[in-house]
Amino acid sequence: MSAEGNSAVGEHGVSKRAKAANRKAAKPESRLAMVRRARKINRELAEVFPYAHPELDFRNPFELLVATVLSAQTTDLRVNQTTPALFAKYPTPEDLAAAVPEEVEELIRPTGFFRAKTKSIMGLAAALRDDFGGEVPGRLDDLVKLPGVGRKTAFVVLGNAFGVPGITVDTHFMRLVRRWKWTEQEDPVKIEAEIAEIFPKSEWTMLSHRVIFHGRRICHARKPACGACPITHLCPSYGEGETDPEKAKKLLKYEMGGFPGQRLDPPPGYPGRPAPPLGASG
Ligand code: SF4
Repeated sequence: MSAEGNSAVGEHGVSKRAKAANRKAAKPESRLAMVRRARKINRELAEVFPYAHPELDFRNPFELLVATVLSAQTTDLRVNQTTPALFAKYPTPEDLAAAVPEEVEELIRPTGFFRAKTKSIMGLAAALRDDFGGEVPGRLDDLVKLPGVGRKTAFVVLGNAFGVPGITVDTHFMRLVRRWKWTEQEDPVKIEAEIAEIFPKSEWTMLSHRVIFHGRRICHARKPACGACPITHLCPSYGEGETDPEKAKKLLKYEMGGFPGQRLDPPPGYPGRPAPPLGASG
């Protein structure tokens, strides 16, 4: 979807809707009203981002698991630019477990913290080989025992490679759910538990993708593009960012701003351009 496609904003006028949201925010909101508003945000985001998806490229659970571990402290784009060469050389856990560490370090260097990450991914490849017959297990309890794999990584893998519903509490998710007053918690595990109470399980995985898409494209950490946001009428934090529609439009990222996305190999239906390979301009 292009920035222009995001026309819900101009249609009714941001300021009118924002005033309504602010009026509502003046009175304390009941739990029931908050849950209804949260579910409405989820429905509206589903219309804005019908193509929301994990932004790591992967072809099987092993690739997703490794890519997710590599994504710590860097962008999905950088991981996607790095993993093709890694998986070309080490396509299976057995291959990666038997690799020469220095060679792996060289390949994943662009993702940062490459020595620690090499230890993690080689350690988890060895654990997959030795304890799980070379397959990624599809259970939370097993996944979190693998080196370098926490609950967040486990949920990404379960939700996207095994179809098990899960909530991914990353930095975007944490910021947005607090801006929307869905929770006041700061701890990811507590946030996850509170959000799980608001939405049916069947929504968890896609809700996570939609919220993260919104956080990456529109509701940024430092300067949210409030003036170009399609859910201002549901947001108690409208005005935290740029409210001028023209200026806000310029803050939009990826396909919303007319730029390439993060995946070199985006799924069918993605309306933007694929990301360029490592070293290419674009
Ligand atoms: S961009 Fe602004 S209006 Fe939209 S969700 Fe974020 S804080 Fe709320």
